Amino acid sequence: MNLLEQAYQELYPERKESRDLILSYSGRFRGYNANIRMNWGSITINASKKWKVVSSDIQKGLYQELLVRLLKVRKNSINIDLYHNFIKSLSNVAPKTQTHPVLEQSFQRVNEQFFNGMLAQPNLKIGSGVNRLGTYEYATDTVMLSRILLENEELMDYVMYHELLHKKHQYSAKSGRQLHHGKKFRDAERMFPDAEKLELELNKLVRKHKRVGWFW
Ligand SMILES: [Zn+2]
Repeated sequence: MNLLEQAYQELYPERKESRDLILSYSGRFRGYNANIRMNWGSITINASKKWKVVSSDIQKGLYQELLVRLLKVRKNSINIDLYHNFIKSLSNVAPKTQTHPVLEQSFQRVNEQFFNGMLAQPNLKIGSGVNRLGTYEYATDTVMLSRILLENEELMDYVMYHELLHKKHQYSAKSGRQLHHGKKFRDAERMFPDAEKLELELNKLVRKHKRVGWFW
């Protein structure tokens, strides 16, 4: 029995799966990513090679999390909790290899003003997109801000603050759903001076850049 079959059986002891459960590892994935797909004869999980050396209890949690999302049969398990704790802990050990001078200044301002300088600097990088102003990736401890924020320090700091709140508060997970913007997060977000006004300005900035994009 492969680990995916074990994960399935432990999660859904009452179900009988008629499809083959196929597990494969691949070097194509970034970090600890994985995906799941299903057709008439099989359910296949492809996971980053990095998972091979992770303890099987944590791996089973990943596979169960993906199964819950695919089959939409909500279930919790100890393995799923272990998996989420593992992902959250990765940010503490992720190698710090990427930075950017302007983002670094923004990080330092926000860290001083809102976190008493206590947050460790994550990887920092510029993204080329307009639709996503910023992201935070737990597994690699990376804040990415869109290049269009470079022209406005206040907006840049506001989005930086949002992404750093993800680093600080992390997320909660239940039954295949992840809550990234819970009440604590939203309350903290509003501590930023003029947060409401800045939200409006962010919308304007995105619209302006989309317009420019259409012209060219
Ligand atoms: Zn967010």
